[in-house]
Amino acid sequence: MEQKPFDVAIIGGGPIGIACGLEAKKKGLSYVIFEKGPIVNSLFNYPVNMQFFSSSEKLEIDHIPFISKEAKPKRDEALEYYRRIVTNNDLNMHLFEKVLHTEKEGNTFKIKTDKARYMAQNIVVATGFYDLPNLLNVPGEELPKVSHYYKDPHFYAGQKVAVVGASNSAVDAALECWRKGAKVDLVIRGKEVGQRVKYWVRPDIINRIEEGSITAHYNTTIKEVKENELLLNTPKGEQVLSNDFVLALTGYTPNFDFLEQMGIAFSHDEKKRPVYDPDTMETNVAGIFLAGVICGGMETHKWFIENSRVHAKRIMEHLHTHRSLKAS
Ligand code: FAD
Repeated sequence: MEQKPFDVAIIGGGPIGIACGLEAKKKGLSYVIFEKGPIVNSLFNYPVNMQFFSSSEKLEIDHIPFISKEAKPKRDEALEYYRRIVTNNDLNMHLFEKVLHTEKEGNTFKIKTDKARYMAQNIVVATGFYDLPNLLNVPGEELPKVSHYYKDPHFYAGQKVAVVGASNSAVDAALECWRKGAKVDLVIRGKEVGQRVKYWVRPDIINRIEEGSITAHYNTTIKEVKENELLLNTPKGEQVLSNDFVLALTGYTPNFDFLEQMGIAFSHDEKKRPVYDPDTMETNVAGIFLAGVICGGMETHKWFIENSRVHAKRIMEHLHTHRSLKAS
């Protein structure tokens, strides 16, 4: 017997995909959430000691209270919060199931995952931006000592660590590793620590640099990564740095190939903003909607949980009304 299409398939089980699932359920829509990893996979992969810059009430979805010890919650508290929402509401979430391909046939979408095939009348893409790191594109980047994700400072105690980047992730990693006994070199392409670094953290890193605890290399890029050293391009010419590990924390890029295969259009500039109607979140492909941080294209700082959680209600209200109109 042919499977009945879902009203909506949600791709991505991050905070915003979960918010979409909750809202779909409230509106009586049949739905499924596909998540290629565990619940809130991106948050799970954040640094173990990570503290959100938002206070907990700003991370709440569907007005479900988020209680945390401090005003700004830690990663483990956020994992607990979103996990409890999924389990308590018995959300229809297919974990460790990756969507590979979607295809529109008439008014229905065919969805192929790494486990099965499905059909849906509508799709919400809430795939975030944390899967593809911005690469340095230098020789040696493939060495095991180079990582584009930072997890735990303990690993780096007593080691010479070069942290590449000048934004929040790089600064947090540099400070934590130094505090756990690493010798830290901060390699910064521009002339200063990023202006968007959390206002309560920026003075900390500036002071550590000025007192000489952490060495900052401004206007500097990595030329090559070698087993035991780094070659730097500095304003004074090439410099060799003794080095054990490289944390290249230079940001992440949404999976544009995935959006492209769905037929979603982008702006023709370096921002690559996906095309969608901000009132409904519907893209140029009728029936495909965007939700969460994916909406920003290359401007990955533009959307976060705080300001994108409203997308869920907007989309599901539109689908609900649209469905009612079709039925009447
Ligand atoms: P994500 O949480 O990234 O969820 C997308 C999900 O889609 C992932 O779980 C991924 O595994 C899944 N996925 C991707 N492709 C597929 C596929 N093909 N099939 C199935 N599943 C797929 N925001 C705030 O509001 N406050 C903060 O304090 C804050 N701090 C941050 C700190 C860091 C270090 C980072 C990186 C981001 C932070 N953000 C913060 C931004 C925001 O929290 C995150 O980007 C947030 O996770 C966005 O939610 P999302 O649901 O849109 O995307």
